[in-house]
Parts: sequence; structure tokens; C-alpha cells
Amino acid sequence: MATVDTKTGQSVDRTVLDSMLRRRMFYTPSFEIYGGVSGLYDYGPPGCALLANMTDLWRKHFVLEEDMLELDCTMLTPEEVFKTSGHVEKFADWMCKDPKTGEIFRADHLVEEVLEARLKGDKEARGQKVEVDEEKEAKKKRKAKASKAVKLDDALVQEYEEVLAQIDNYGGPELEQLIAKYDIRNPTTEGNLLPPVAFNLMFQTSIGPSSNMPGYLRPETAQGQFLNFQKLLEFNQQGMPFASASIGKSFRNEISPRAGLLRVREFLMAEIEHFVDPEGGKKHPRFADVKDVELSLLDRNVQLSGSTDTVQMTVGKAVETGLVDNETLGYFLVRIQSFLLKLGIDQSKLRFRQHMANEMAHYATDCWDAELKTSYGWIECVGCADRSAYDLTVHKNKTGAPLVVRETRPEPLRIEEWQVDIDKKKFGPRFKKDSKSVEAAVEALSQELREKLSLDLDKNGKIEVEVEGIATPTIELDKDLIKIEKRTRVENIREYTPNVIEPSFGIGRILYSMIEHVYWSREGDEARGVLSFPPAIAPTKVLLVPLSTHASFKPLTQDLTSKLRRLGISTRVDDSSASIGKRYARNDELGTPFGITVDFQSVKDSSITLRDRDSTKQVRASEDEILQALKSIVDGDETWEDVRKRLPEFTGQEVE
Ligand code: AMP
Repeated sequence: MATVDTKTGQSVDRTVLDSMLRRRMFYTPSFEIYGGVSGLYDYGPPGCALLANMTDLWRKHFVLEEDMLELDCTMLTPEEVFKTSGHVEKFADWMCKDPKTGEIFRADHLVEEVLEARLKGDKEARGQKVEVDEEKEAKKKRKAKASKAVKLDDALVQEYEEVLAQIDNYGGPELEQLIAKYDIRNPTTEGNLLPPVAFNLMFQTSIGPSSNMPGYLRPETAQGQFLNFQKLLEFNQQGMPFASASIGKSFRNEISPRAGLLRVREFLMAEIEHFVDPEGGKKHPRFADVKDVELSLLDRNVQLSGSTDTVQMTVGKAVETGLVDNETLGYFLVRIQSFLLKLGIDQSKLRFRQHMANEMAHYATDCWDAELKTSYGWIECVGCADRSAYDLTVHKNKTGAPLVVRETRPEPLRIEEWQVDIDKKKFGPRFKKDSKSVEAAVEALSQELREKLSLDLDKNGKIEVEVEGIATPTIELDKDLIKIEKRTRVENIREYTPNVIEPSFGIGRILYSMIEHVYWSREGDEARGVLSFPPAIAPTKVLLVPLSTHASFKPLTQDLTSKLRRLGISTRVDDSSASIGKRYARNDELGTPFGITVDFQSVKDSSITLRDRDSTKQVRASEDEILQALKSIVDGDETWEDVRKRLPEFTGQEVE
């Protein structure tokens, strides 16, 4: 599919881009010489450098700037942890099997694919223009049957569009209904499918040689962060709110990996768990700094009405009107946006989409995804969920570990309440084996009931209490055994379980989307692809090109290389015999933002030229000035435009 680049007006030709990325070894299918395994990729040298630069920026943007506590937890996790977190039971997608061919489909993707194909067929029948999706083109056989040019009823077109707008909201039973209602079959064979069943996405393994400790490869980094909460709180000297952060691999046994790096089975995640007091509206201390920043928002009600229209709104207004649930969630949406923009993401291809109720993970109470538009459509690249107190509570209940905050109240809290005293010496002989159950039932009486029972006790000298699980559930207690009085209790300590706001980044998805956003080709030459990575992100910052293979350039090139390395600026030398223009073109494909040319003048006076990748403009100055300019651009202190204005332009060599 071709999407239009909003900066250049060009469309992204994915076939050309993909072949360029493979040729330049950004990434490559794993185990390819063994036939490959779908959903597994290896990153090559420029891909590794990109990943490293992205995670470095992530650390600076979040961990350093927000004073977060970084953790590196194990990927191998014992089963018990994921039983408690709910992943063993619920971390699943729905799949349908064709009983005849044995083919397996992810149910929601199948419904989406078939309905989209029918809508495409309808457009063709109506003589309307249809966008070509190459991924689906590749599945030509399947497609041929599914998208026959058949005109649909207007009402059905609308129904399909409404279903597609909320496709993420359907669970197994709803998908089963849709499959039956719209007669969705195996697109290749037209065979009927079995009803959808849940497929757990975690990879199971066993830890140790005895195989009596089942485990899983983690599907997210979050659980390790929750389990360390108590130690982190202590490390943070009991200070709240605070956030932990982790960068590491996660694993999901996707039913149908597709779309290159976008849906894979092993991927790098960067996750933040921000722990916040649930009382007081989940305020964020820095919200005032971001409240005027505009976001493009697609709210859940709009999707449920069958539309995907976004609104531009400041985050201040979004929180004030309740569209975004709270300040902390809103604060992170802005921080996610600014991180993505620093990477070179095109803002017009970024939106935040709110999850619909059924779509949210089992633990979430509100969730917004940062979605990036690519030639594969809108792709969720960062999830930002309010996980409430779910995880800390379930792990606390299971293990008894105090995953809570205990803080001294500024003012002691005086609580008027009905208190119950029981005479334990008499309780044992009177109720024998049931005495513990009776005691527990009395302790569990509500304040309301206690008030009423105290009046009964005064009036009748005895009360009746219901006790579950004993032979005679209604027991009688007289004044000798129990006293109920209104008293004042003073509480100096407040104990609460924090809520968690979790921004969760899939680095591979962001990397691929970013590549599409910064990709363009030189005018009039589609084969000359350019990746306009911002200098801080680019895999290599500078290409050093001696004018020719003349021996006199060697010492200068070597000297410049070591100087650039000392400055921490990654450099490659291309002293091949290809023309300068060719050498630059090769590095445009790698996204190298700058080039230094060494020529005969350089040998004489140490002046060198600096070429900007995007404009191909050059400046010429002394070696020191150029190196200093480069350093300040790479560090983000200056832009190319600043440098171009203050250093003399050079128009000598033809480097095109
Ligand atoms: P989730 O926990 O499902 O919200 O996922 C968090 C982030 O991980 C998503 O926003 C994606 O960027 C990334 N992600 C999830 N599943 C995959 C996958 N199969 N392949 C690549 N990235 C993924």
C-alpha cells in the first residue's frame, strides 16, 4: 500500500522501502537459511544502532528527566506469578480453525480482512477508486475470492463499517456471532470454520532439570516491576508518587505474525510503571507544564458510533472534561507524544485512540494507545493504561507481601465508630470448635449493624448473629459475652495500595513506523531513497569521503576519524573509487545525516566541507569549526540551519 508523506507529498512505496531495508541490513528474517520462522527477526548493524539510539533517547527522555527507577528483571518467570496476575487465564487471542485444511486464523483479523475485502469489492462494483494494499495483494488467491466486485446493500456497507470501527471491542462470543451472521469462511477454500477458541499467547517452559517448576517467558516487563514495588519504595525513601522503568525483551506466541516488525513473537519493550495515590484525582506534579499541549484524540464513544474521526484538544481540556480520566494519564500522553516527535515521527500520522470497554486488558480501567499511521494502516505503538491497584493487590493477596504505602498522616485522623469487645475467656467454652467462626462473623459486622445491635443488646440483654458455615448458623450472644460501644479511634498512619499508570512502548513497532515516516526519495529518482533520521537517532552521524583514492588524503581521513570518535560521533569512511555522489547516495539509504569531504584544499589548509543529507547543501570551514558544529548538532544544541547561517556556503564540488 502507498501512504503519502505529508512533508514531501510523496507516497511510501513499501516494496521499494522493504527491499532497501533488507539490502542495507536494518533487519532480516531469523534463521533464513533454514527457511525462517515467521514473527522472528534479527537486526543488522544499522538496525542495532537505531535500537541503541532509540533506547538511549528513551532513557534520557523518561528515566533521567522524570527521575525514574530503572530495573532489569528476568524474562523467565515462574507460573505462579502469571496465575496470580491473570495472564494464565486471560492473556489470549481468539482463533478459528478450518477443520478440513487445519489452517488457523486469528478470529478478529479474519473478520476484518473479509469485511474489508467485501467493502473493496463493493467499491469496485460502484466504480469507485480503491487503494491498493500490497500485503493483501500478496495473498492474491485468498483475495481473489474474497473481494469479487459485488455491490452490497447500502445498509450492509454501513453495518460493515461500524463493525470494523469497533473490531477491537469484540470477544470470542461476539466474533462467533459475526462469523455466523456474515457467513465468514476460510477465504481460500470457502470452507466453514470451527467457532473461535481462546489461545494463550505465552510461551511455556520449565525452569530447572526436574520439570516441576513450570514457567513462562514474560509477555511484558511489568510484573517484575510490581514484584519489586516494596524494595523500590524503600529505595525511594517512601516517597510517592514515583515510577519504575524497564527495557527488555518480551515474548508473545502470536497466532498469525505479519506485517514485518509490527507483529512479531519476540520484541523489545520499554515500560514505565508510575505508582500514584488513588485519592485526590491522580494529580501529576508537572501537569501544569504540559496542559496547553494539543493531542489528536479518538475517543471510545466516537468509535462505538462507527466513526474514526479525531479531535484536536489540549490535554488540559481533555482532563478537565473527563475525556482523559486523570492528570497522570494525560501527562504521560504528552510525554509519549514528545518522545515520538523527537524520533522524527510525523505528527499528522500520530493519534491517541481510547480503548473500548471490552478491548481493555483484564487489569485496565482506562487506556489510550498512541497509534502511528503506516502503509499497514494505524498501528498501536505505545499503550498507556491505568492498571488501577489491580496488580499490587493480587500479588499482595497471594503472597502476603505488604505491597502498600504506609504514610504518617499530617493530622491524626479521629474516627468515631462502633467497636465490639468480646469476652474471649467465655467464648471458647461456650462455642468450642465454632468459636473462631463466631468471632470472625462478629468482627465483620458493619457499622450500621453494630449500631442497631447495640440498641438490641441494651433493650433485650442479648442479640442474634448469623454465622456462615456452622451447624446452627443463628447464634445468640448475651451481655456477658459481648459489648458494643461508640468510641473514638485515632489513626496516625494511612495505608493504601497505589494505582499504576503504565506507558508501554514496543520499540520495534516504533522503529518501523519511524522509518516509514522519515523515508522519501530524491526528486525524479525513485530508486534514490533517503531516510531523514534526526541526527541524534541516525545509526551513523557522519560519512567521511576523501575526494579520490589519492594517498595524500589518508592521514587526514584517519586523523578526522579518531577526532570524531573521541567526540562520541559515530563515523564511517567511504574511500571507495565510486563517485562522491554515489557514495553519498549509498549513505542516504542508511540515513547518515552529514558528510565530510576531504579534498586537495583540505590537505593544504585543513579546511573541510560539511554536507547536509536532506538539502544536499554544503558549508566549508576549518576542521575545528566543522567538528564543533557537528558536535553541537548531534547534541541537539544547534540545527543544520543554524550552522548553515553562520558558516560560509560551499558550492565547489558537485556531490549530487
Ligand atoms: P500491550 O501490552 O499489548 O499494550 O503492548 C504494548 C506494546 O507492545 C504495544 O503498544 C506494541 O508497541 C508492542 N507490541 C505488542 N505486541 C507486539 C508484537 N506482537 N510485536 C511487536 N510489538 C508488539
